[in-house]
Amino acid sequence: MKDIAEIRADFPILGRKVYNKPLVYFDNGATTQKPQSVIDALTEVYTTYNSNIHRGVHYLSDTSSEAYEAAREKVRSFINAGRREEVVFTSGTTGSINGIAFSFGERYIKTGDEIIVSHLEHHANIVPWQMMCERKGAVLRVIPINDSGEIIFEEYLKILSKKTKLVSVTQVSNALGTILPINKIITAAHSVSVPVLIDGAQGIQHGMVDVKAMDCDFYVFSGHKIYGPNGIGVLYGKEKWLTELPPFQGGGDMVDKVTFEKTTYNALPFKFEAGTMNYPAAIGLGSALDYVTGIGRVDIAMREKELLAYATEKLSGIKGLKIYGNSASKISTISFLLDKIHQYDTGMILDKMGIAVRTGTHCAQPVMDHYGIGGTIRASICFYNTKEEIDSLAAGIEKVISMFE
Ligand code: PMP
Repeated sequence: MKDIAEIRADFPILGRKVYNKPLVYFDNGATTQKPQSVIDALTEVYTTYNSNIHRGVHYLSDTSSEAYEAAREKVRSFINAGRREEVVFTSGTTGSINGIAFSFGERYIKTGDEIIVSHLEHHANIVPWQMMCERKGAVLRVIPINDSGEIIFEEYLKILSKKTKLVSVTQVSNALGTILPINKIITAAHSVSVPVLIDGAQGIQHGMVDVKAMDCDFYVFSGHKIYGPNGIGVLYGKEKWLTELPPFQGGGDMVDKVTFEKTTYNALPFKFEAGTMNYPAAIGLGSALDYVTGIGRVDIAMREKELLAYATEKLSGIKGLKIYGNSASKISTISFLLDKIHQYDTGMILDKMGIAVRTGTHCAQPVMDHYGIGGTIRASICFYNTKEEIDSLAAGIEKVISMFE
């Protein structure tokens, strides 16, 4: 693996100061920073070949269409999908889940059918299903969690039934960092012929994706969580599903023939890509995946594991600090609260020290309700962070505590 100083130099923003203090960025769960190569890829599009994709016969349009399709191939290879046709670009995880919830609902769901999610889901993997259930008279069932922040697998098996039409679960909890046993979840669902959607928003950047090995039916993620640009995401779907499902948006490029009487749709994956896609961001995402592959996914996971162990030990040693989410199977995210000190006060004081953490419910209110708390402070660590930064966080927290004593 590259030396950490070299890695950090790849990300220009990491060198900046905030309130004249070196920036310590621990908000990677919300969005990750971008390496120069991704910024350069975006600049290259706009300075040398920007032109709308797929519709032109001219040089620039050809170049940008080729770069866009090359990015699709990079995604295919990164997630190990069998075919490029199974890789649809969307606006992000939220866009992908809403799209599938709509199309799946229209095609397959009837009154009384059930969809299963877990208690650990981000709102993006709850609300679209509730909207669909409301439209179709279906029922949302929830896999409960224990106090370590893990799903209770036996309870999942109890609610998985003939009524279940789809299971949609996150690979990793954004609020607590828990890694879900998705292989077991998928195997159990498939044993009763139920398809599974995996929300990979927090899994993709920690090196954990191989859609063939997982055998998931859908896998969705956002570019901005894996060092890529905002405004781009991916919906992977097995060809069988994408062929059967109707499109979730109509417009240009997703059609074959349009008349006022009837419209036929384009081939996969274009059937699901209506209107002008965010092709510069897709190309930037391709570049981000190149970057991650260049650093090495196994090395990234190993480094993050080491940083998690270090941070857990450091923070656990602080009197009055309670960590939420203690599963043995976790990514490098630590959610915590300080005794008698509000999370917003903690976050705001840390901010003045140049330390960026996230405070609040992390768009996972049911998780907070489980613990009966209004939110947490979340430090989400990634491979470009350092032990020295973790030391700064621990010292910052001690300072907050001393200020309130
Ligand atoms: N699911 C999970 C687990 C997430 O962490 C997030 C982002 N915080 C989302 C879905 C939504 O992602 P986006 O806002 O990029 O669509």
